[in-house]
Amino acid sequence: MHLCIPLTCILAAYCYFLGGVIILSTKISRYDIISQQEKQLRYTIREGEKKSPWIKSQLSKAGLTANDIKTREDLQKMPFTTKQDLRDNYPFGLLACPLEDVVRFHASSGTTGKSTVVYYTQEDINTWAGLMARVLKTTGLTNKDTMQIIYTYGFFTGGFGFHYGAERLGISVIPSGAGNSKKQLEIMKDFKTTSFTSTPSYALHLAEVADEMGVDPEKDLSLRQGVFGAEPWTEKIRERIEQAFDIDAYDNYGLSELCGPGVACECEEKNGMHFWEDYFILEVIDPDTGEVLQDGEKGELVFTPLWRQAMPLIRYRTGDISRIMDDECTCSLPFKKIERITGRSDDMLIIKGVNIFPSQIEEVISQHPEFRGHYQIIVEKEGAMDGLTICMEVTENLFSGNLKDLLQVQKELENSMRSTFFISSKIKLVEEGAIPRSMGKAKRVIDNRRNKK
Ligand code: ADP
Ligand code: ZN
Repeated sequence: MHLCIPLTCILAAYCYFLGGVIILSTKISRYDIISQQEKQLRYTIREGEKKSPWIKSQLSKAGLTANDIKTREDLQKMPFTTKQDLRDNYPFGLLACPLEDVVRFHASSGTTGKSTVVYYTQEDINTWAGLMARVLKTTGLTNKDTMQIIYTYGFFTGGFGFHYGAERLGISVIPSGAGNSKKQLEIMKDFKTTSFTSTPSYALHLAEVADEMGVDPEKDLSLRQGVFGAEPWTEKIRERIEQAFDIDAYDNYGLSELCGPGVACECEEKNGMHFWEDYFILEVIDPDTGEVLQDGEKGELVFTPLWRQAMPLIRYRTGDISRIMDDECTCSLPFKKIERITGRSDDMLIIKGVNIFPSQIEEVISQHPEFRGHYQIIVEKEGAMDGLTICMEVTENLFSGNLKDLLQVQKELENSMRSTFFISSKIKLVEEGAIPRSMGKAKRVIDNRRNKK
């Protein structure tokens, strides 16, 4: 069986199994994790050389055979795999098993262009479900919970990933899917939902609808926690969601090319996401040079999954920017953590020569007490220069009050932006609801410079 079943010595230390995936060990040592990773790496490369035309071609491009890759250091000899490689090999070029063994296709949401397709064997699905069960358990969910899954069920991996993981953990699942906010809230009330999952931006929207409907989450709902991800979000947004629903809100990370959700998540400490080192090798690289960085240094996350049958990948460049945190966690999980994702390398805006991630803009404007969570960044050419405008929603009261107050808020925000990024920007305050809501990932940036190309 192609799966990373740990060494017998590690086994004893684990609590219990879920679909082949071992859930929440606290006693596994760093040494055992690395041995496990290297054992699985050798297996993945050996099988890849035999079964995956893509891995075979990557090995020969580097003048290597599977025998040359035995350790984590050896892995650095291998070329990277990129999203473009997946697009170039669309749809079946990455397949490493007969098509009849594939039981499922998924695709990425296509946030940055044509979506990429991923395939799963039954065993891949089982492992994914186990990894997701691990995520949900880490955020404190148990079989006593009822979870509403407010993600699209379809090509996008979010809905199914959470669904299988939650079922595997024995959670009562409500597969309500994305959209129809009023209905979502009614279901929450009627079914006494204790947890829900969606994008953080949709959770904010749901909070507004609850408010409009006169639903008081503290009195009318039974929610105690929520698991959010699929897009960057800041601490301020977490605070807003937590306050609005009277819950604990946890971050989780994943991408369809690696399985979907199920790669990393926060524990009760809510400070960095543990990633499953017994199932993935993570390197952090300088996105410009490809050089591997030390733990603690910020760069692009590159993952090698160690368990996949239908679509093994070596050194997949995610484009996502973060760093490996080197501090130990109070939860005593042995797996390292990554910091909140800053954004994707291709989301980075270069404005008047300054590199800025949308999440950094959010960080600045969210400090203002008038920040409600909804904003949009508009970049366009103003003559030869780049112009940056941030549309930010504020409460209606501000518009019905004194014009001076409105101008004051605007000025304060423009000053904060200038003192942080050393460039000027315009702040446009708009009424609540003026910025389009999304059922999934929010569209934060409209770059009209790009659109004109
Ligand atoms: P895509 O959006 O690339 O079409 P996916 O639907 O698979 O593909 O989404 C995966 C991407 O979503 C990740 O690569 C990352 O950019 C983003 N993402 C997922 N989880 C998080 C998170 N917790 N924080 C920030 N970004 C996230
Ligand atoms: Zn922890």
